[in-house]
Amino acid sequence: MLFSSTRNLATKVGLSKALSDGIAPDGGLYVPERFPALQVGDFEGVSGLPAIAERFLAPFFSSDPLGPHLADIAADAFNFPAPVKRVLVAGGKLSVLELFHGPTAAFKDFGARFLAACLSRIPRADSRPLTILVATSGDTGGAVAAAFHKRPGVRVVVLYPEGLVSPLQEHQLNCWGDNVSSIAVRGNFDDCQRMVKQAFADRTLAHAMQLSSANSINVGRLLPQAAYYAASSLDLWRAEGACPGYVIPSGNLGNVLACLWARRSGLPVGEVVLAHNANRAVVEFLATGEWQPRPSVATLASAMDVGNPSNMERLRVLHPEWRDLAVQVSAYSVDDDAIRTRIAGDFTVLGETWCPHTATAAEVYARLPADSRRALHWVLVATAHAAKFREIVEPLIGEEVELPPALAGLLALPAHHDTLPAELDALRDYLLALRNP
Ligand SMILES: *Cc1c(COP(=O)(O)O)cnc(C)c1O
Repeated sequence: MLFSSTRNLATKVGLSKALSDGIAPDGGLYVPERFPALQVGDFEGVSGLPAIAERFLAPFFSSDPLGPHLADIAADAFNFPAPVKRVLVAGGKLSVLELFHGPTAAFKDFGARFLAACLSRIPRADSRPLTILVATSGDTGGAVAAAFHKRPGVRVVVLYPEGLVSPLQEHQLNCWGDNVSSIAVRGNFDDCQRMVKQAFADRTLAHAMQLSSANSINVGRLLPQAAYYAASSLDLWRAEGACPGYVIPSGNLGNVLACLWARRSGLPVGEVVLAHNANRAVVEFLATGEWQPRPSVATLASAMDVGNPSNMERLRVLHPEWRDLAVQVSAYSVDDDAIRTRIAGDFTVLGETWCPHTATAAEVYARLPADSRRALHWVLVATAHAAKFREIVEPLIGEEVELPPALAGLLALPAHHDTLPAELDALRDYLLALRNP
């Protein structure tokens, strides 16, 4: 299987190259040149996330040097579960797909671990360590740090905006040590992203070290996410003989693309519904056909505060016609008041504790037409553990949220970070000094 750029479908590269480059040379995003025509029968006798992932991903790995390593990669990357748990509601069948059982308690762990498992198996001509630079607004940096921690031949440098991430997120960025360094930048997230881009374009750095990125647009983050949709939809299909529908908390649209790729590849995925916070660009596009990216607005579901989702390019390659796209998916927007009310209400009525992102999906489910709720078994995609956002959730439910063991373990570790002004010169000196400790 080859991968094309969204901006030029004639560009074709192998999987290893798409993973190592991250972004296509023309600035586009890599997408599979075509999708496999899998059938439920192709998975006969195969169960459990690692095994289903291996079978599902085999066509995407075929002909690539990573192909023979796929079984090891799946075992290495999918070493924590993605359980589907039933939620007892009136008037329909509802389950929740829990994607928060990884080391940093959000679904970003799937993409980051899989990418790390792949990148560490791609032979490199250059014997110098690979330095992975990540700008993060909170969740991604921790997942990448966790995934690459102690992997030989790789160094991770995380940039985050000083004072603008939650205390728990900050600790999760700063507790690794060894081959992971973290920098609090005196600026905002956009400054961090700009510094990373400038570092990639900097000649001195290009000469001195091998830089790579692990940002959310890498196709190596979408493939493992498609695998958990494959596994969960197969499980429900096997149990009930019907395709489940998914309600997906959405920001940059990576999780949505992964679900649509699984469906396009033949997996038993039914309707797909996007749950957005007050950032409404995608909802408006589906309603009007006019694409109007917006500056992002801050909400309680902060990991979804995206006004110009980068994966829109991939969505439009998958469904070039707006009218067709509007049939393939639907989208709703939920404001902060509704998120608060949903967290408090579902805790009282259902005994469920949602993070603010998962709560947008729960709210959207409640807004679906009643006959649509009855028609399918719906799956809410739970993107993070509520404990990660306890300063929001605890006052709403009036109780403490217990930390999952992985997070509690991280919080017990000592933390260290460096601080830099939001300037390329400072970052360049920092990186050059890392090279010569
Ligand atoms: C990143 C993130 C999202 C948004 O996912 P996209 O793939 O960007 O649409 C939702 N919830 C949480 C907790 C996240 O970290």
